[in-house]
Amino acid sequence: MSADLLALDARHVWHPFTQSATAGVPLVAASGHGATLVTEDGRELLDLVSSWWVNLHGHAHPAIVEAVARQAATLEQVIFADFTHRPAVELAARLAGHLPGDLDRVFFSDDGSTAVEVALKMALQYWRNVGQPGRDRFIGFEGGYHGDTVGAMSAGRASGFFSAWEGLLFPVETVPFPATWDGDDQVAAREAAALDALDRAFAAQPGRVAAVIAEPLIQGAGGMRMCRPSFLAAVAERVRAEGALLILDEVMTGFGRTGPLFACLKAGITPDLVCLSKGITGGFLPMAATVARESIHQAFLGASLDVAFLHGHSYTANPLGCAAGLASLDLLEGADCTARRAAIEAIHRDRLDDLARRGRVGRTRLCGTVAACTVGDGGAGYGAAIGPKIKAAALGRGLLLRPLGDVLYLLPPYCVTDAELHRAWDGIDAILAELA
Ligand code: PLP
Repeated sequence: MSADLLALDARHVWHPFTQSATAGVPLVAASGHGATLVTEDGRELLDLVSSWWVNLHGHAHPAIVEAVARQAATLEQVIFADFTHRPAVELAARLAGHLPGDLDRVFFSDDGSTAVEVALKMALQYWRNVGQPGRDRFIGFEGGYHGDTVGAMSAGRASGFFSAWEGLLFPVETVPFPATWDGDDQVAAREAAALDALDRAFAAQPGRVAAVIAEPLIQGAGGMRMCRPSFLAAVAERVRAEGALLILDEVMTGFGRTGPLFACLKAGITPDLVCLSKGITGGFLPMAATVARESIHQAFLGASLDVAFLHGHSYTANPLGCAAGLASLDLLEGADCTARRAAIEAIHRDRLDDLARRGRVGRTRLCGTVAACTVGDGGAGYGAAIGPKIKAAALGRGLLLRPLGDVLYLLPPYCVTDAELHRAWDGIDAILAELA
């Protein structure tokens, strides 16, 4: 059965981020339960990347299944202009309740890239609406990744993923991101240099910067690079002093990944705009939100349509996504989920320290449920091509890992059990021994 399906796949399907000429045959996912994915040929894989960082509570969580099914039988979709609906309003209010300060105004969309696109557009139009159209420039961080739409690519152009589309992108200045790791004694100097660069970027164009955009605490696709919360707080202070807006892209860090529900809470800062997606529906439906401070929203009110935010998508605030989001929040708010996140972090800590002590990995870092280390030339010297070898060996052991270059990381669903997580680390330990 799978052979026929794979033949059709090879003929008709174009997979994302894939060189189809050289990629292996894809695995055929058939079902999932808890932290496990099951393929059509009956293989069980521990999903240690939460299926591209979205499945917070694992696969097919019954509470979310039920919420989506109930909503589908009631109201599956409705135009969101001239209409509102209970799941969207409730989700917006609950998100606002969890976010700090007056981050109260929720604009729904469909994916992380679009959440970023919306934030960039809002920032630009905000300054136009308040009579400062000259504030039309953005600053980002080296290694930042914000998605694949044109604005998001521009904001993340320093990630190096987008050379094929250079002509489409607008200029965004970047400043260094002081990534750090356990035992790093140079971080303070790198932070100072990054803040100096930010100061210089502001000074070179006074009153021209619309917003600074950052992935808070963890740069995901850029290699699970982590910075200290105090650095983020210092950035926020400088952005505030310059009078520009701060956009935090919490597409990956949101919904408990770093420990608290949002990374901005861990850093003790209130940005002007926050981008959310990935975990927002617990991995059930494509959905996103850009949350703005109420003071930003106020600048879009007026007699003229010109000052309104004329942006929207056919599926904006899809009721199924909102219902999944509410059910996911119910789980996230529970004591069980908080305890699981703490347990995952503790196991990560022990196992990372143990691997580092034995010289198997380098540059270990940990933030909430996200653990990462470098196994290639920057770490334990396995060579830069180690990533694909680890991925293949892991699959052979029933573990789904997707190293980023020579960076090995684990970002499991919160429902992963202690035994499953230890099995994953045991497998990694054995693979690293084999490849040494
Ligand atoms: N922002 C961050 C921080 C991300 O990690 C990603 C995706 O990996 C995106 C934006 C883009 O999200 P999406 O792939 O849903 O468009």
